[in-house]
Amino acid sequence: MDTPVEGRSLDFIREIVAAHVNEKRYPEGIVTRFPPEPNGYLHIGHAKSICLNFGIAVDYQGRCNLRMDDTNPAKEEVEYVQSITGDVKWLIAGWAEGRLGLKDVEPFFTSDYFDQLYAYAEALIVKGRAYVCDLNPEETEIYRGTPDKPGKDSPFRCRSVAENSELFRRMKAGEFPNGARTLRARIDMASPNIWLRDPILYRIRHAAHHHTGSVWCIYPMYDFAHCLSDYIEGITHSICTLEFDVHRPLYDWILNALDLPKPLPRQYEFARLNMTYTLMSKRRLLELVKEGLVSGWDDPRLPTISGMRRRGYPAAAIRDFCRRIGVGKVENTIDLSLLEFCVREELNRTAPRVMVVLDPIKAVIDNYPEGSIEELDAVNNPEDPSAGSRKIPFGRELFIEAADFREEASKDFFRLTPGREVRLRYAYFLKCERVIKDADGRIVELRCTYDPATRGGNSPDGRKVKATIHWVSALRAVEVEVRLYDKLFTTADPSDVPEGVDYRANLNPMSLNIVPQAKAEPSLASGESGRVYQFERRGYFCVDVSSREGKKVFNRTVTLKDELAKIEGRGVPRS
Ligand code: ATP
Ligand code: MG
Repeated sequence: MDTPVEGRSLDFIREIVAAHVNEKRYPEGIVTRFPPEPNGYLHIGHAKSICLNFGIAVDYQGRCNLRMDDTNPAKEEVEYVQSITGDVKWLIAGWAEGRLGLKDVEPFFTSDYFDQLYAYAEALIVKGRAYVCDLNPEETEIYRGTPDKPGKDSPFRCRSVAENSELFRRMKAGEFPNGARTLRARIDMASPNIWLRDPILYRIRHAAHHHTGSVWCIYPMYDFAHCLSDYIEGITHSICTLEFDVHRPLYDWILNALDLPKPLPRQYEFARLNMTYTLMSKRRLLELVKEGLVSGWDDPRLPTISGMRRRGYPAAAIRDFCRRIGVGKVENTIDLSLLEFCVREELNRTAPRVMVVLDPIKAVIDNYPEGSIEELDAVNNPEDPSAGSRKIPFGRELFIEAADFREEASKDFFRLTPGREVRLRYAYFLKCERVIKDADGRIVELRCTYDPATRGGNSPDGRKVKATIHWVSALRAVEVEVRLYDKLFTTADPSDVPEGVDYRANLNPMSLNIVPQAKAEPSLASGESGRVYQFERRGYFCVDVSSREGKKVFNRTVTLKDELAKIEGRGVPRS
């Protein structure tokens, strides 16, 4: 967990950074950034980038800036700025925040540099490296050519510096409609790299911006704004995903064309995270949210950081996952089960154990005194002695899990069946004497006896039982709603669909199964939202934000792999 850089094998980017540190290339220190566009919520792929960028800053005593890459007013919103900031803060709290001396994560904004960026654009014009082009978007596209066919020079490529300066000023002043003109870099229309064929640096967009309001009607393109924002912030290592390697020549061209005085940032590319059963594009996630196919950006089935947090994934588990998958140069697809493994590992150490019966049948103990309740000791976390213990009420009437009883047991069923004893966790041996059924033959309750000498779970005469089951006192149980989540998609690669079929066809219709009235031990009546428990033998569950006083709602965070497999292996329908 969050191991220090010494004693760890370095990924290829840290190897580069370590070499730069050794040769003292950046006397001001190592500076990275995480630059999301505020056009959606962050997802687990972004977590990989956050862990990498903030992790490098931690490992080499540098800095990492959270920067809103906000150059497209049409798609960006303050809601996204806020969610992104909150998600980053949550993910790095207790890890990078302290070590980087960050009191609070305050985002930087590319749009705060619009004045400077405009001045750099003017400087490029003066150097003869940029021109105002009057081709409309369709014409620009045609002139650009294709990967194997060179482009054609724009008829406006040779305008004088004076004319370009004047037109650019008028673009800024709002004299032209959207799409009428662009500012373009003058590079090479025949370049085999299509990004170098006189790329657009500025476009006209008469649109209000979430951060700058209506000050601007021209907005810089990503490629122009990104490298210069990196430069302005003193970024040393600008780390992005592989698809940007074709942009790197342009990144370098712009910085070099300006003859800038300070050391230049450099771009490095790593392989993005892909994960089975998971769609990660913000565009797709936005569709699922907008179309109401999920309950919102923080739906616990989504791979968004907000969704995972609501579901109960600890930040430390997500960071552990990002550490385990490493950072490489080749794209691959990580199995979702690795993330779930990391979540289980963390929760096994930290989550208090409680007993909840999801699918109850009543067991009445005929030889237990009517109306009396006793308090039994239950260990909070066997993995963590410091977590202590609690009292749980035990009485004559209990709820047990329907799947823990069979009227006719097969050879491999060791739990409760008429005439057999099992252990009630933290309590006594319980024996089923007879089954009470209604007129339709459905089980109403089990009549049982217990052995008072087995308090605490062991028999003084050395009698053995083959199974231990969980239970809840019927008199003291609190009712809770439990939301059982399954994968959102039925196929490992949700975007892999036959021609003419939409990825939505792969949505899992069973991804949410609500248990409206599970029976929980009384300690669960309190418990603030976000708190994660292990429901013994059933998995990890987290208090949902929609909980009300008197009716808690729990999200299943993750199953207990082995236990559930055991229960399910014996013919109980998947819950
Ligand atoms: P999407 O493609 O989902 O819309 P994006 O790449 O457009 O995401 P940005 O807001 O531009 O989203 O991403 C911010 C940073 O996060 C970028 O540096 C990007 O490289 C990184 N990032 C985005 N997706 C992944 C991923 N799947 N794995 C690793 N890093 C990612
Ligand atoms: Mg992007």
